[in-house]
Amino acid sequence: MFDIAKKKAFVCDLDGTLFMGGQPIKGAVDFVIESTKSERFSFFYLTNNTSKTPEEYMTKISGAAIPVKPEQILTPLITLEAYIREKGYKSVYLLASEKVVSHMEKRLADVGVSFEFDPEKNELIALAYDKELTYAKLADATSLWNMRNVPPSPMCPVRTENKEPIDFVATHPDNCCPSERGPIPDVGGMLKFLEITNGMKPTHVFGKPSPSLLKTVLDRFAPEEIAVVGDRLYTDKAIADNAGVDFVCVLSGETTKEDLEKYTGTAPAIVVDTFDMVDAK
Ligand SMILES: [Mg+2]
Repeated sequence: MFDIAKKKAFVCDLDGTLFMGGQPIKGAVDFVIESTKSERFSFFYLTNNTSKTPEEYMTKISGAAIPVKPEQILTPLITLEAYIREKGYKSVYLLASEKVVSHMEKRLADVGVSFEFDPEKNELIALAYDKELTYAKLADATSLWNMRNVPPSPMCPVRTENKEPIDFVATHPDNCCPSERGPIPDVGGMLKFLEITNGMKPTHVFGKPSPSLLKTVLDRFAPEEIAVVGDRLYTDKAIADNAGVDFVCVLSGETTKEDLEKYTGTAPAIVVDTFDMVDAK
């Protein structure tokens, strides 16, 4: 039974939950603004999209008049940063847009991580939603894998002096990104492209539905104090389930009442037309 009196933190999906096609969903956004100002709840904003920097999401959220601080933005770039720190990597080949690479350089400036392609030094290949992806970048990523992770053979003749296997991670699993032009390729599609080329597979895929994205929230609040709010069952509900927290399903985005009737998994903790309705029940 969903009890709002027990909740202290809401982790909100953005598209379909607080925004629709770039426009704020008024009732939902007003509820977040009022509850932020009265300090009734803490809010966190969840996105798998690593084509944008957290600063760009802050601009989008504050553009809807919601007061927001950097630590409230949860993107897999945070998980990637934590992973690089934990592993102690100093040389990462990051496939990402220029602004995302420079964001990561700044974030990791204190430990001095290089994000250049360097077959002798690279310890990790990291794939983000790179909207500046080129054939040269894909060929560099696969050649790193060939040089370091594939035994020499006539098919794979090139080796580096560096004999250490190279690690490979991806920021999130989404196959496609919804757009005005319909579904367009996202990281999941890029992963399939790489895998079919030479069998390279990531050791970790961050982002929804991996609960690693909720770590900072779970560090601060008990699971029963947290709810994830979203419009997609296979990403938003999945991350809530994987983290052991309640899921508030909103009908303002992708999921319809008919989808919920057909859904065979456990029911969401509560279903509402728009996020603000969570307070009326
Ligand atoms: Mg959504």
